[in-house]
Amino acid sequence: MTTVPTITLNDGNEIPQLGFGVFKVDPDETERIVTDALEAGYRHIDTAAIYGNEEGVGRALAKSGIARDELFITTKLWNDNQGTQAAHAAIDESLTKLGLDHVDLYLIHWPSAFRGLYTESWLALEEIKAAGKARSIGVSNFQVPHLEEIIAASDTVPAVNQIELHPEFQQRTVREFAVGHGIHIEAWGPLGQGKYDLFGNPAVAQAAAATGKTPAQVVIRWHLQNGLILFPKSNSAERIAENFDVFDFELTSEQIAAIDALDANNRVGADPDTATF
Ligand code: NAD
Repeated sequence: MTTVPTITLNDGNEIPQLGFGVFKVDPDETERIVTDALEAGYRHIDTAAIYGNEEGVGRALAKSGIARDELFITTKLWNDNQGTQAAHAAIDESLTKLGLDHVDLYLIHWPSAFRGLYTESWLALEEIKAAGKARSIGVSNFQVPHLEEIIAASDTVPAVNQIELHPEFQQRTVREFAVGHGIHIEAWGPLGQGKYDLFGNPAVAQAAAATGKTPAQVVIRWHLQNGLILFPKSNSAERIAENFDVFDFELTSEQIAAIDALDANNRVGADPDTATF
């Protein structure tokens, strides 16, 4: 069976570098699709309260019979549950839906800065970790000033920052800050969410032709060889397996450099600084 490399987070916990994400996976199909992913070998699942599919994830986990300590489960605090009391209630609700007594990673989903609550929420996540309900805690969509603020206000540096990151949007500023502070980056939308022709780009297509792998596998390898954590999403069992079959080849430094050169500030999702949710 494939062994996925793990990354040691700044709190000593280990995270499988490749997982499976369930954003926009229909709640009615989640149990089947996560079961497909577990059967393909994934052990790291990334969900969120707002995805509405934590119950389906939980059913798939329970049905799988896989030991809890072999799984790495992430969920996220939604924006309208920021603040101390709401965050404590939200993790309890997520754990109930997932059928778990703890998650491996709990994230603040967005800074949602207009609410003025992300630092208070971060302190609540520290309490949630102390209570054993999350083994690791981190953030998502945080920009450098948001990170600076919570680091200054607390005793905990986030274990991860989960941000939009793909070849045309490489987030060098946030990555540099993260590296300097021991924060690992998780790349969401690692395949660009299919919103531009990433797979037809010559740098990707040529690497695919040279390695005999698919363009999606090349992009996943680019993330892995850049030290990023990722969890591409697909509803199809075939692509779920394809996206996991990435440990039998390596990109050369030239192939990596050609994809590194695609950075074009092409954000395909919401901008954390202007988002109004
Ligand atoms: P993604 O970049 O993983 O793209 C998914 C799309 O790529 C699929 O819908 C499919 O159309 C296509 N695809 C997948 N495998 C393919 C293959 N082998 N060949 C061709 N096409 C393929 O986008 P995503 O789902 O948005 O991101 C991955 C995960 O990141 C999510 O499921 C979620 O867990 C997380 N996420 C987090 C946030 C956040 O705000 N924290 C936002 C978006 C996503």
